[in-house]
Amino acid sequence: MKLDTICVQGTYKPKNGEPRVIPIIQSTTYKYDSSVEMGNLFDLKESGYFYSRLQNPTCDNVASKICALEGGVAGMLTSSGQAANFYAVFNIAQAGDHIVSSSAIYGGTYNLFNVTMRKLGIDFTFVSPTASAEEIQAAIKPNTKAIFGETISNPSLDILDIETFASVAHKNGIPLIVDNTFATPINCRVFDYGVDIVTHSTTKYMEGHASTIGGAIVDSGNFDWTQNDKFPGLTTPDDSYHGIVYTEAFGKGAYITKATVQLMRDLGSIQSPNEAFLLNVGLESLHLRIQRHCENAKAVAQYLEKHPKISWVNCAMLESDSQYEIAKKYMPNGTCGVVSFGIKGGREAATKFMDSLQLAAIVTHVADARTCCLHPASTTHRQLTDEQLKECGVSPDLVRFSCGIEAAEDIIADIEQALEKVD
Ligand SMILES: *Cc1c(COP(=O)(O)O)cnc(C)c1O
Repeated sequence: MKLDTICVQGTYKPKNGEPRVIPIIQSTTYKYDSSVEMGNLFDLKESGYFYSRLQNPTCDNVASKICALEGGVAGMLTSSGQAANFYAVFNIAQAGDHIVSSSAIYGGTYNLFNVTMRKLGIDFTFVSPTASAEEIQAAIKPNTKAIFGETISNPSLDILDIETFASVAHKNGIPLIVDNTFATPINCRVFDYGVDIVTHSTTKYMEGHASTIGGAIVDSGNFDWTQNDKFPGLTTPDDSYHGIVYTEAFGKGAYITKATVQLMRDLGSIQSPNEAFLLNVGLESLHLRIQRHCENAKAVAQYLEKHPKISWVNCAMLESDSQYEIAKKYMPNGTCGVVSFGIKGGREAATKFMDSLQLAAIVTHVADARTCCLHPASTTHRQLTDEQLKECGVSPDLVRFSCGIEAAEDIIADIEQALEKVD
């Protein structure tokens, strides 16, 4: 099936007389006729629902749609994008291990890695999203367990050279984990370029309407965890499940099964069925919205590029953009609806511009149906030092402008009147 059809119908196939729409199963628990049956579920001898901290049918139906959209073998929802990235890495790394990450990543992920996960004893080395294979290799250590990056980074909009990162990862017997939030599976087919695990903040384009927080993880099924002894959590007995070995018991489902029955059981960052329902409604129009987001972003970028008060524009869909070629390679149909730019006059001019906008709202959000904008240096990234800002590719004058799906003419007219107020 084409992606458009998967967006609308997914993998949910109601039987005769069942609800046409994925139903909200608002139940913490599930009834069984005998203790033996329930015991088998706890031992993972049979699959089935027993407690919604681990799994819920509504969430699983939506996870299955996202898994199909990415073309993976197994997927799961989490309560947020932060939880998705934490689980994706923590599922295969523990105290004493090391991760190589692109430096061009979301500020929240940067803090998660650089501060919180360091406290758990996991070490990180950051490299440029355009680093050469040699430069990435130089960051790899014997205890490195994964490489991490974002297909299009939020907010710096750097495009990851996916194949280079994947080749270094695989040469070292470790997986490439990529956060595909901004490109979405509509615009970037990450598994085709060697990505092993993909994560999402479904809060952004996937849900698309700024009404629910959520995350997702999908496994391509392509990485062989048994090729070396780097992943004992997957290839040796789990004491918390009577010695089950995930790769032996679940094959290609090992990674997602471990993240579900071990991390979700112990940490509990489960998506709620109500939120998953809303996410699914958003997914039904993802293919249409992404197309319009990209058309609008391109029109806005073309307008800004010619404006005398704008010092620079970053939108890889512009032929003049330094990332145009790499964007064409990995995202031939477009990148995303977010453009960033600098206004002459720096921080002060950026503030005046933002305060003068009428249609575009100042919000701590991005990638939804309504046009919005943000000045990261004074908001989302304010915990970072100037040095860290530079590492994430965020300059002090950067305005992140997220084009919605309104009429491009109206978005541009709003920018025009706001720029007139900047002297
Ligand atoms: C927003 C975002 C996250 C964090 O997701 P939440 O749903 O806000 O927890 C992670 N990665 C990227 C690229 C994001 O844009």
